Amino acid sequence: MVHEFKNIAIIGAGASGCMCAYFLLNNTNNIISHNLNQPIIEKENLSITLFDKGAPLRTLLPTGGGRCNLAHAEYDFKELVKSYPRGEKFLYSIFSKYSTLNTIETFKKMGIETYAQENGRIFPKSNSAKIVRENILKNIQKANFVKEEVTEIVQLNPGFKIITNKAQYLFDIVILAIGGHSGLKLVNNLGIKTVEQRPSLVGLNTKEDFKTLSGTVVKNVTYNNIYEDLLFTHFGVSGPLVYTISSIKAFKKTPYILNFDLAPDLKDLQEILDNNPHKEIKNILNKYLPAKLINYILNDIDETTKAHKINGKTRDLILNKIHNFEINIIGTNKGDETVTAGGIDLNEINPKTMGIKNFSGLYAIGEILNIDGFCGGYNLQNAWSTSYICANSIF
Ligand SMILES: Cc1cc2nc3c(=O)[nH]c(=O)nc-3n(C[C@H](O)[C@H](O)[C@H](O)COP(=O)(O)OP(=O)(O)OC[C@H]3O[C@@H](n4cnc5c(N)ncnc54)[C@H](O)[C@@H]3O)c2cc1C
Repeated sequence: MVHEFKNIAIIGAGASGCMCAYFLLNNTNNIISHNLNQPIIEKENLSITLFDKGAPLRTLLPTGGGRCNLAHAEYDFKELVKSYPRGEKFLYSIFSKYSTLNTIETFKKMGIETYAQENGRIFPKSNSAKIVRENILKNIQKANFVKEEVTEIVQLNPGFKIITNKAQYLFDIVILAIGGHSGLKLVNNLGIKTVEQRPSLVGLNTKEDFKTLSGTVVKNVTYNNIYEDLLFTHFGVSGPLVYTISSIKAFKKTPYILNFDLAPDLKDLQEILDNNPHKEIKNILNKYLPAKLINYILNDIDETTKAHKINGKTRDLILNKIHNFEINIIGTNKGDETVTAGGIDLNEINPKTMGIKNFSGLYAIGEILNIDGFCGGYNLQNAWSTSYICANSIF
C-alpha cells in the first residue's frame, strides 16, 4: 500500500510523544498481530519532528522511582479501565485495541524484557528507566528533534503553523503530547474545550501538625474499603493510600475530612485487655501500630497504664481514635503531584483516532487529555495506548 507523504509535528517529546513517533516510524499493524517474528517495516513516506522545550524523554527518568513502572499486570482491559478515575469509559475501546499485553510486546520488540511484581506493577528487567529511555530514543532516531518551546499553533487550511520561541514551521499534521504539567494555554488558544487541571497522586496537607510523626508508615490502613499504607510527613499525609485518595478526590474542594481505620485487625480490645491485665497499654497496641503513633493517639493517657486500669470510657476513646482517625485535609502538597487530572475534555476527542473533533489533522495523546489513573503503571499505559491509536489512525 502506498501512502501519501506526511509532514508530522509532535509537540512534546515525553512518554506519549516519543512512543507515537515509534509507532509512526514502525509498522504498528505488526504489533496488533502479536507476531514477534515479523520484521518491523520502516515508513519512508513521513517526516516526524518532535518539539520539546527540554531533553527528549527526560520525563521517563523519575518514573517508578527510577525503575519505570511501565504498565500494570491487569490483562483484562475491562478491569484495567476501572483504575482510571478520569477516562474509564473513553479508554474502553482504546484498551480493547492496545493494552497491557501489547505494551509488553512492544517493549520486547525494542529489546526490553519486563517482569511483574507481586503487587501487579510491571517493570523492565533492567529496573532502569534510563535504559528504557535510551532504547526508545534509539528506535526513533529517524525523527527530527527540535529543542524549542512551542508558543502557538495556528490552524491553516490545510495544515498548521507551529510558532516556537525561536522560529515558525509548517506541518500537515500536529499531535499534541504536552503532558499534564505545562498548562492548557496552547490548547485553549485553539478553542479546544478543557477541564481545569488538578493535582493527583499527591501528598495532602493537613490541619493537624504531624511533624512529630514525620516518616512514620502505618501498614494496611483502611479508607472506604481501600487497604494501603499511610505515611505521615512534615506537611501532612502521603504514601500509597493517600495517593489513591488524592486521585479519587482530585476535584473535591478543600477543606474536607478523611476518616481512617488505622488498625482494622484490632477487633476486640476489651478481650485483649482482659487477657493481659498487667501489660502496659502501649505494649498492647504496639502489635497494631508504630510506637510514635501510639504516643500520638494516647495523647494525655499515660502510655504505661496497665490494661486492668483502662476503664470502658478510656477504652472507647482509644478505639475511636484508632478506628475513626480523623484528618482535616486543607490542600495538596504543591508541586509534588505525579499526574494531573483534567486537561482536554474527552468529548472533543474521537477515541478511534485520537483526532480532535472539528480539526482535520490535529490529534492529542497522553496526559494532556482528561485521563489519569491510579499509581501503578496506569498513567504510562495511557500514554502508550493513546499514542498507538493515534499513530495507527494516521496511516
Ligand atoms: C515523579 C514521577 C513518577 C512517575 N512514575 C510513574 C510510573 O512509574 N508509572 C506510570 O505509569 N506513570 C508514572 N508517572 C506519570 C507518567 O510519567 C506520565 O503520566 C507520563 O509521562 C505522561 O506522558 P506524556 O507524554 O503525556 O507527558 P510527559 O511525559 O510529561 O511529556 C510531555 C513533554 O511535553 C513537553 N512540553 C510541554 N509543553 C511544551 C511546549 N509548549 N513546547 C515544547 N515542549 C513542551 C515537556 O517538556 C515534556 O517533555 C510519574 C510521574 C512523575 C512526575
